[in-house]
Amino acid sequence: MAIVLSNALLVDLDPPRVEAGAIRIDSGKIVARAASITPADGDEVVNCFGAVVMPGLVNGHTHLYSALAVGMPPPAKAPANFLEILKFVWWRLDQALDAESIEMSARLGAMDALKCGTTTLIDHHASPLAIEGSLELIRKGVSTVGVRGVLCYETTDRHGPAGATAGIEENERFLAACAGRKDGLFAGLVGAHAAFTLEDERLDRLAALAEQYKSGVHIHVAEDGCDEAACVEKYKIPLIERLEKHGLLRAGSVFAHGTHLSKDAIEKVNAAGLTMAHNPRSNMNNAVGYAPVAAFKCPVMLGTDGIGGDMFAEARVAWFVSRHERAGLSPGQIVGMLVAAARRASAALGVTLGKLEVGAAADVVVTDYVPFTALSADNLAGNLIFAMGSLQVRSVLVGGRWEVLDRKVMAMEEGDVRGEAVGVAKGLWERMGQIAVE
Ligand SMILES: [Zn+2]
Repeated sequence: MAIVLSNALLVDLDPPRVEAGAIRIDSGKIVARAASITPADGDEVVNCFGAVVMPGLVNGHTHLYSALAVGMPPPAKAPANFLEILKFVWWRLDQALDAESIEMSARLGAMDALKCGTTTLIDHHASPLAIEGSLELIRKGVSTVGVRGVLCYETTDRHGPAGATAGIEENERFLAACAGRKDGLFAGLVGAHAAFTLEDERLDRLAALAEQYKSGVHIHVAEDGCDEAACVEKYKIPLIERLEKHGLLRAGSVFAHGTHLSKDAIEKVNAAGLTMAHNPRSNMNNAVGYAPVAAFKCPVMLGTDGIGGDMFAEARVAWFVSRHERAGLSPGQIVGMLVAAARRASAALGVTLGKLEVGAAADVVVTDYVPFTALSADNLAGNLIFAMGSLQVRSVLVGGRWEVLDRKVMAMEEGDVRGEAVGVAKGLWERMGQIAVE
């Protein structure tokens, strides 16, 4: 059955455009867009009462596996730096993950994202004691909710060559499965934790895999100064040069953070045809500094790095911290980071996301935001940063299906899933409590 969203304020981000109008959705896509649309017999007609209707948002870098970390007990000793945050917290949590908690984390993380109008997640997963099949578990959890995903496994040498090989094989399995399905719902990238936990041989294999699948490598890069320092100390070569030497500085790659990149390194990144993922709330939370966002000429997309899936909140903070840091960004550049995420996900999935145009995937957010000042393409970014938020998300379509309708998650009873998750989280935290700091 086709759906007509009528009497809407259609808001596009790529390029910015604001028009009163209607769209018709059929077979997963937007099939018509006009000032008004006469519904056909049997069409479901939704009057949007002049509220903003916009494309579903894309989270450019996240870690669904951290969804059950909300409120977990703090480590016995407070971390004093970034490496200790990894060692005391995240590298213990990821080891405690099992099949049940992986799938539950994915389901909950996707559900929360969906309710915020985020319809695609570019995820970076780690579960070193449950690697094989983990991406399929995430796909299962995410698809239960109805969200799209671009997934990968964070390959690392932290658990020796066997662990690293298992990580590479998990990426390969998922890439092959996605290449076989080509369903526009899930795609793979080649996942790598960060250069400072990967041997040269592994970098070569990751690059070869990216080459084989015409994919990119999704990796944390210079999130903290320790990445560069470890590289120079162990390999006697600057970080970006090492990634270049081993084929990871490539078109299609996703480099998360880039907080500590030198001028020379930024030039190489800008020329490589890759996409940076900027995660301002995470960077602030980990006290790793502010990424040189204004210096990146390559696409920069916004990610939450596991701090939920609310891209309105992330965009707002991206703006505030850019002001605080006197980075010289415009509000339009913040919106550009949402656009970059949609473009990168579109390229991976082979569908058009982030646009309310005929032929685009019908991933559409119906809000109840009716602006009380004249909204135009020129002041759209200001509205998005200062006035709009996920609380205004009323209904969400993914691929033309109502996945949230009047704030109710359609695929499952949300309360039941949340209740079940409490028990799963308890078990996860208990296992984590028994894992010593590496
Ligand atoms: Zn991350």
